[in-house]
Amino acid sequence: MNVYDSERMADALAPDGYVQTDDAANADLVLINTCHIREKASEKLYSDLGRLRDMKAERADGADVTIAVAGCVAQAEGAEIIRRAPVVDLVVGPQSYHRLPELVARSRSAAPPAGDDQLAAAFEPRAKFDQLPKDRTATGPTAFLTVQEGCDKFCAFCVVPYTRGAEFSRPAEDIVAEARRLAEKGVREITLLGQNVNAYRAGSPDGPVELAALMRRLAEIPGVERLRYTTSHPNDMTDALIAAHAECPAVMPYLHLPVQSGSDRILKAMNRRHTAEAYVRLVERLRAARPDLALSGDFIVGFPGETEADFEATLDLIRQVTYASAFSFKYSRRPGTPAASAADQVPETVKTERLARLNELLESQRQAFNRSKVGTVMPILFERQGRHPGQLIGRSPWLQSVWTEAPDTLMGQIAQVEITGVGPNSLVGKRIEARAAADASA
Ligand code: SAH
Ligand code: SF4
Repeated sequence: MNVYDSERMADALAPDGYVQTDDAANADLVLINTCHIREKASEKLYSDLGRLRDMKAERADGADVTIAVAGCVAQAEGAEIIRRAPVVDLVVGPQSYHRLPELVARSRSAAPPAGDDQLAAAFEPRAKFDQLPKDRTATGPTAFLTVQEGCDKFCAFCVVPYTRGAEFSRPAEDIVAEARRLAEKGVREITLLGQNVNAYRAGSPDGPVELAALMRRLAEIPGVERLRYTTSHPNDMTDALIAAHAECPAVMPYLHLPVQSGSDRILKAMNRRHTAEAYVRLVERLRAARPDLALSGDFIVGFPGETEADFEATLDLIRQVTYASAFSFKYSRRPGTPAASAADQVPETVKTERLARLNELLESQRQAFNRSKVGTVMPILFERQGRHPGQLIGRSPWLQSVWTEAPDTLMGQIAQVEITGVGPNSLVGKRIEARAAADASA
């Protein structure tokens, strides 16, 4: 979502003449988009600000550099950032990005705001989506599109409900219009985003629209060939959504469905409101609807009170479900969340040891999944150049990177590729048309 938000911030600033640069040392405006989900991500901000302070001081041309902090750290710790890092001119939370042009202009004016007036952190998602520019500078055949923001679930470890605010779903008409404009620019694959994307539910002139119905509408847009959505909560996986996986070919057979833990005791303490068994049954229903469905997940090790037996229950669940890919994290204490003040915190050494065991299992499943695709033929959407001329890299339906010899004319298009090998992080394949031509000349 931060990638999407960064693009939208660039779109918002473009009318004022701002263009992107890869070199912060040349920038008039440096905008840092931040993540608050774990302590490590959050701390990175202050080290980045230290570097920017030195860079600003050493700037030979004496240019007036504006430094702005956006994202969830801005939302959660805005006042502290202003106090701790005087180099920062402006702090803007995720629900105020539509105000960026005005905020940046004010901060670059003769009388810039000071103290708390440098902070914009109100919760106004509706105004944001209404006021951000309609047009997007889409580049390439894949794009993100935020449909939902915020969270009402309050998992005991998580800051999202506090930083992103309450659940908000954008009107379906606005999303369809944004998707249509993306498709006109050559986008073939859209990933719908939300902190709780499958809780999407918006009113429309024809009555309420849920995620499954929204995807069916998006799939009708000429040019939109692939749809994905992330991140989903197991409890919002409706029958209609499961049916969409079975019936709607544009919906890709790959689902990010975090479970966090395989222990019912820990799931309860996490306030996840479902059991491990319920999750496994849900996966079975999804796979019955779409047999080639692959899963990815999120796991937390070392949540307060997690015993060796709880952790092993997580390993058991992973063995039962099998994942094509996963993200795993050591539990990180986040200020203001219920679990942060729990007495039974797990020692760091135990977290490190469990994370290593978890990753070993997940990595073996990922590699097995990749190997299982060798010899199969799958549609690949080509999205960037390979290392060598005549090589393109594309995405499989399961989000794997696939390297293939292919002419540039196939960029942005989908072609059938036979998978011939696996590397550590990608697959190698041969285009079916190319193979047919070679066979004919042999
Ligand atoms: N809404 C999604 C997750 C959003 S946060 C869901 O409910 O599944 C993305 C991931 O970050 C979470 O799935 C979780 O695994 C991880 N995460 C969130 N807070 C964390 C914390 N305090 N410590 C470690 N990992 C955390
Ligand atoms: Fe955080 Fe996801 Fe739980 Fe919401 S549902 S509180 S975003 S982990």
